[in-house]
Amino acid sequence: MLSAFDNAMTLVERTAKHLDLSSKYPKHKIVERLRIPNKIIMFSSPLQKDNGEIEVYSSFRVQHSDVLGPYKGGTRFNKNVDLDEVKALALWMTLKTALVNIPFGGAKGGIAVDPHKLSVTELERLVRKYTSKLVSDIGPSVDIPAPDMGTGAREMAWIYDEYRKHREVAKGVVTGKPVEIGGSLGRLSATGKGVVYCMLEAVREMGLENYTVAIQGFGNVGSQAALDLWERGISIVAVGDVTGNIYNADGFNIEELVAYCKKKGGVKGFPDSVPLKSIIACDCDVLLPCAMENVIRGRNARHVKAKLIVEGANGPTTPRADSLLEERGVKVVPDILANAGGVIVSYYEWVQNREGFYWTEEDVEERLFNLLRQTYSRVSEYSAKNKISLRSSAYALALGKIAKAMAARGVQ
Ligand code: GLU
Repeated sequence: MLSAFDNAMTLVERTAKHLDLSSKYPKHKIVERLRIPNKIIMFSSPLQKDNGEIEVYSSFRVQHSDVLGPYKGGTRFNKNVDLDEVKALALWMTLKTALVNIPFGGAKGGIAVDPHKLSVTELERLVRKYTSKLVSDIGPSVDIPAPDMGTGAREMAWIYDEYRKHREVAKGVVTGKPVEIGGSLGRLSATGKGVVYCMLEAVREMGLENYTVAIQGFGNVGSQAALDLWERGISIVAVGDVTGNIYNADGFNIEELVAYCKKKGGVKGFPDSVPLKSIIACDCDVLLPCAMENVIRGRNARHVKAKLIVEGANGPTTPRADSLLEERGVKVVPDILANAGGVIVSYYEWVQNREGFYWTEEDVEERLFNLLRQTYSRVSEYSAKNKISLRSSAYALALGKIAKAMAARGVQ
């Protein structure tokens, strides 16, 4: 079984060597301090179901590092959530916020639950219980949750509302809220649009023209990226989700596909499509993995036909697959850059909540694209200068900043 956290740490260790951190900061134990999260909160969330029965769910919040600011990261509801996964996701948040230069550390939370099996009232009770147990550990300047797989604006509204019962009225305690209660315009589409933006930068660098795109995962990130691509007239020939994979060489009408998924619960059976065994190995020029960790592995990496992969999901490529792709000349825009749009606009939401002054959607998008453009070009330049992949470059820039901050702050 692959450990997402071990995979992520393998890259951190490799990067630490490249940066020669042990001789630059001999006393600071940078890698060791990233291997052990600052705090792991693990608890049970018992829930009385509508039928009176009780279910108990394993629940987590991992506060990985706050060296650059308050802990920040989403809350995942998925039946396979476990401590290893939440630790990996929290570490990636530490690296992501450092890379894009926003004043946050990294955290992640989650509950091992299939949210589709609960009623809305059950879900609300579960979110409120989870929040009430974390009330002393979160706060607008301590740790700020947000949406992740299986959660969205509705759940964030419950977190905000539960927190204010126990502590202060603090809009900035959670981001990704509905706009009516202090959410930011542009937050819902931010991750998907960021993925597309990074893809366009890479496509431009590579000189690709008339290319086709395949998307794995059609949740918030995958569907928002698809809508943006479709509006730009870019052809999406393959889409996959938990219900199945579909293919149409002429490209999908994404607006119709989104409406179909709302009705049917997934992409399977969409008119004028043929079923497809694998999205990862399908015929396309650009692949956007927007679902889960560890989906591109040693065994399927050699079958990838895409020339470019842009990681909408966190950790979709294992280190072994990463080396294979690099050998084969497949360009990969790494997760901590490609999907950073979400946490960037979460930061803008937090700023707007603190100021009590709200921006237009155009303001939000302009700032988002400027920050992504700057970050992409920093990563690309460092990669070209040092003849390393975009992933190694992104890790080096993030880790370099974290190491400097750790050394500056000391340990006492
Ligand atoms: N869950 C998202 C991520 O993995 C967003 C986190 C946030 O907005 O804090 O980046």
